[in-house]
Amino acid sequence: MNIIRRFFGVFRYSGRALSLVWQTSRALTIGLAICTLVAGVLPAVAAWLGQLIVDSVVDAMAYHRETDAPATWQTLWPVMRYVLAEAGVIAGIALAQRGLSAQQSLLRALLGQKVNVMILEKAGTLSLTQFEDSEFYDKLTRARREASTRPLGLVNKTFSLLQNAISLLSFGVLLIQFSPWALLVLLVGALPAFFSEAKFSGDAFQLFRRRSPHTRMQMYLETVLAREDSIKEVKLFGLEPLLLSRYRDIFHTLYGEDRRLTLRRESWGFVLGLLGTLAFYGAYAWVVVETVVGQLTLGQMTMYLLVFKQGQSALSASLTSISGMYEDNLYLSNLYEYLEQPVASEQGSLTQGAHPGDGIRFENVSFSYPDAETPALSDISLHVRPGESLALVGQNGSGKTTLIKLLTRLYSPSEGRILLDGSDLRDWDVATLRRRIGVIFQDFVRYQLKVGENLGAGDVVAFNEEARWQEAARRGLADEFINEMPGGYHTQLGRWFKGGQELSGGQWQKIALSRAYMRESADIVVLDEPTAAMDAAAEAAVYADFREHRRDKMTILISHRFSTVRAADHILVMQNGRIIEQGSHDALLAADGRYASLFRLQAEGYR
Ligand code: ADP
Repeated sequence: MNIIRRFFGVFRYSGRALSLVWQTSRALTIGLAICTLVAGVLPAVAAWLGQLIVDSVVDAMAYHRETDAPATWQTLWPVMRYVLAEAGVIAGIALAQRGLSAQQSLLRALLGQKVNVMILEKAGTLSLTQFEDSEFYDKLTRARREASTRPLGLVNKTFSLLQNAISLLSFGVLLIQFSPWALLVLLVGALPAFFSEAKFSGDAFQLFRRRSPHTRMQMYLETVLAREDSIKEVKLFGLEPLLLSRYRDIFHTLYGEDRRLTLRRESWGFVLGLLGTLAFYGAYAWVVVETVVGQLTLGQMTMYLLVFKQGQSALSASLTSISGMYEDNLYLSNLYEYLEQPVASEQGSLTQGAHPGDGIRFENVSFSYPDAETPALSDISLHVRPGESLALVGQNGSGKTTLIKLLTRLYSPSEGRILLDGSDLRDWDVATLRRRIGVIFQDFVRYQLKVGENLGAGDVVAFNEEARWQEAARRGLADEFINEMPGGYHTQLGRWFKGGQELSGGQWQKIALSRAYMRESADIVVLDEPTAAMDAAAEAAVYADFREHRRDKMTILISHRFSTVRAADHILVMQNGRIIEQGSHDALLAADGRYASLFRLQAEGYR
């Protein structure tokens, strides 16, 4: 039962793969179908012409022997026309095969692109939580690595199966005139080999799937060992031998499993393949006997032997296609599993809140990361009005960044709610919401693009507007060093691409800050350690500018520097995901609690 289900499972995704190919290019799909048909029928025609050639040669020889007449064009023509026809047919087969491979390679490129775009588009709709889920991430990696070549593989194999089936059918028409039993022998000889192939393909896929985490670790080690952003540290700490030996160990484990499977697969394939050879030579002997006793002409013998031989290779090619299709199907199931991953719909549609001007409110918000035992935030309530600034202070891991992630709706609260202008964040239209927020994360992205584009990334509608770049860079204090760069705002950043310039940490941070300023429409500005890598003068200038420009904006600031924090209207002190103290700088000092002791600790250091 299982094996039968497996057999039909082979065709499960063929339809989808075909429709994918059809959508990619109709012309190429039709061309592929025509070439397949031609390449399928012509071999039988060639075999049939071969019979006619041999028989007419035998006739012509007999004629010459009897009449003793010299060979003339007239006596040769009956043979030659078949020879010519066969040459034509062979040329036709060659043409069809070239056509097949040309169209396949064009389709491969188009389809690979299409599937990759599908995968990336889907990635854009996924939530951050899904990306952080390692099982899901595995699916994505597997889909990306394999699936762009698989759909075409499946279609090629479906077509090749079709082509071989057509050949077999046409051979069958010829063979059945000899004996239906011969046909049966041919089929039965091949079945065991097929079933063993199907089984081992399934095993291979299970293996592939099971060890996906190891493969991912291997890819990760490759990245660490061979990427410019990590090589500095790897070299200085002398980590290469250690990481490399880990890389080797993973390979050896994987290789051992591969080897076992390959050996089993090939030995079974050989033993069961022998059955096919046995069937072939049985039939061979049978045809020879029939010819010797005069039941078959020499031409018929040639044809049957050819048909048998080619029939057998068409059959084994079909079996290879089928087992390959089985594998492709399994891989495609992975692709579709990924593509059909449900995404949390972001249905909100509000573009304006119920009480415009109310600002941001957290009402008893709690949040736990998936699978986390303790909540990252518990019972947080706060209110920031337009024109106000809020600073978050606390140890590493106290939940500051998590609070920002909730505010920017990268995650949703597990309990409680977050309001903007009196309406729940979940009811807001996501695009409107994100337009209102300008944010720099501590781990902002260093795009390997032009300097200007690195700024433009902050506001996609002004991505290429040089005047806006300059304005933002001026406020973010980046204009000075950008103007000194060889290509100005058009200088390539990073070392991945030719002519790329690397920046210092502080310079990058100025780029990130300027990027946040690109978002002029934003009235909520979130700065997570925006000046940690800057020199003291730059930091002072940034905050001076900030106070001057903040007008009716809401500012949320995370910083470990009390010189910065003290300027905020309201300060929240966090610990283990809770607010333990809050108030203005002066009030908090007067209360003489945690904030006051941390402040004094830092002030000591400067004395
Ligand atoms: P802070 O910004 O104050 O240093 P975070 O908000 O980054 O702290 O982290 C708060 C807690 O949440 C920490 O205990 C951290 O381990 C956990 N945490 C942070 N990010 C994730 C994540 N993506 N998945 C699971 N846990 C996380």
